[in-house]
Amino acid sequence: MQPDIEVPVLVVGGSLVGMSSAMLLGHYGVRSMVVEHHRGTAIHPRAAQITQRTMEIFRTVGVEQIVRRKSAEQFVQDGAIMGVETLAGKEVAYYIANLNEGIRDLSPCERVFISQSLLEPLLKQRAEELGADLRFATEMTSFEQDGSGVTAQIRHRDTGETATVHAQYMIAADGAHSRVRERLGIRMRGHGAFSNSITIYFRANVEPLLRGRNLSVIYVINPVLRGFFRIEIPFTSGFLAITALGDPEHPNTDVSAGLTDQRCLDLLHAALGVDDLPVQIEDVMRWQSEANTAERFREGNIFLAGDAAHVMPPHGGFGGNTGVQDAQNLAWKLAWMLNGGFASPNFLDTYDAERRPVCEFTVEQAYSRYVTRTAPYLAAKGFQPVAHDMNVELGYGYDGKLHEHPNESKARPGTRAPHLWLSDGHSTLDLLGSEFVFLAGPQWAGEEAFRIHRITHPEFPAAYGISPGGAVLVRPDGFVAWRGEGTPPPRT
Ligand SMILES: Cc1cc2nc3c(=O)[nH]c(=O)nc-3n(C[C@H](O)[C@H](O)[C@H](O)COP(=O)(O)OP(=O)(O)OC[C@H]3O[C@@H](n4cnc5c(N)ncnc54)[C@H](O)[C@@H]3O)c2cc1C
Repeated sequence: MQPDIEVPVLVVGGSLVGMSSAMLLGHYGVRSMVVEHHRGTAIHPRAAQITQRTMEIFRTVGVEQIVRRKSAEQFVQDGAIMGVETLAGKEVAYYIANLNEGIRDLSPCERVFISQSLLEPLLKQRAEELGADLRFATEMTSFEQDGSGVTAQIRHRDTGETATVHAQYMIAADGAHSRVRERLGIRMRGHGAFSNSITIYFRANVEPLLRGRNLSVIYVINPVLRGFFRIEIPFTSGFLAITALGDPEHPNTDVSAGLTDQRCLDLLHAALGVDDLPVQIEDVMRWQSEANTAERFREGNIFLAGDAAHVMPPHGGFGGNTGVQDAQNLAWKLAWMLNGGFASPNFLDTYDAERRPVCEFTVEQAYSRYVTRTAPYLAAKGFQPVAHDMNVELGYGYDGKLHEHPNESKARPGTRAPHLWLSDGHSTLDLLGSEFVFLAGPQWAGEEAFRIHRITHPEFPAAYGISPGGAVLVRPDGFVAWRGEGTPPPRT
């Protein structure tokens, strides 16, 4: 049967990761169609901490500046990530004193806070500009795959209108409860689910309780509850996420059971540390704290990305960021296949081979932060040592080493090409594009098989681990494919 719609890539789910996928596919020159169940972009704020790496990815597609501007309207910049008994009361720990202190030289970009409800419309606009066909209020109801790709049925929720879509590839960015993953029989592995958590969205003037402190994330640890606050400018609204109640040694982790408005008010007051502050509850979201990774990220021409592939506690703010990195790793590879760069379908196996170990590591790191920051009762069951935030956020690698400090990798193949400010005010990362790019030292004398930038900056050879006669070949996702002297490898 002839499909109604033919498209190179169908993306199921148009939230943070689906929208990023569409935007990046457009950037790499691939047309995509996104189907999203909801009638618009995110309604709940959720993800807010955006890492330098995600901002670097946004920079390549031209949305970094607008994201920064919107972020500054919504949250304080360079705030602390810290722990308190209550917002009004005793401070327990400062995990990060200033969001960008000591990390500015690692990247042309900064860490920011922006909620998904503000970020997703920006990504949507850019995805559309880059040619994506976005269908909201539209559900994918079924799919089949054969040698030619994937055939899916979609249905408009309001009109009931249905259509058949044929795509060469499908990205399942359909979230933690991914029905695509379930249908494919792909299991999740890890620590399982360990809390029925809630997020309470509220309005209250908390400015006096902040006492002039510049805070981005405030973990609350007291005998009533464990969770965290995020407060928005002008400090009259925010959310409290709660993952456990009662005795910290023997907690009740079924937070969402028996929830009433009064119970939410009591919990908020217990976290704020004042009983008499007028508080208005706007919404309550129920979600599960889990730490799991899919046992495989690919089935034929279907790829899992974002929460469909890995679910982690929000401690560390890695979840959405990891999904954007999936989207980038996958988007350029699909583009390379579709645009005739590589012939071998095995090439696409590198998505699972590269991303899954990094995602497993990131999930473990989020779990370790969950245990050490708010759930010490889980410590006895074991957890990985907490790695430096920069190893997780910028220093993840595809060369088997998984992570290291980004200053250490020195453009080793499989690691992210390092940032260095050049004399014209651009970063080395700004020289990378949607194709492979050659960054060469001043004395390099090899053949020019790729687009080449000769870099005369005196610190370039040391930052990239080469002699002045050396060069590196960088992939479209900013990871190093080859480093050496002389002639580059053949283009296969
Ligand atoms: C309280 C909290 C705080 C967080 N803080 C951070 C943070 O600071 N930083 C961070 O990086 N992450 C954070 N996260 C995690 C982050 O929110 C998720 O990792 C992110 O939303 C995952 O995005 P996604 O696009 O993969 O999935 P989702 O956001 O779950 O989106 C999946 C989408 O697919 C759609 N869909 C599903 N099935 C279909 C279908 N059949 N047809 C059409 N559409 C479909 C759904 O409607 C949904 O919109 C936080 C999470 C929580 C709960």
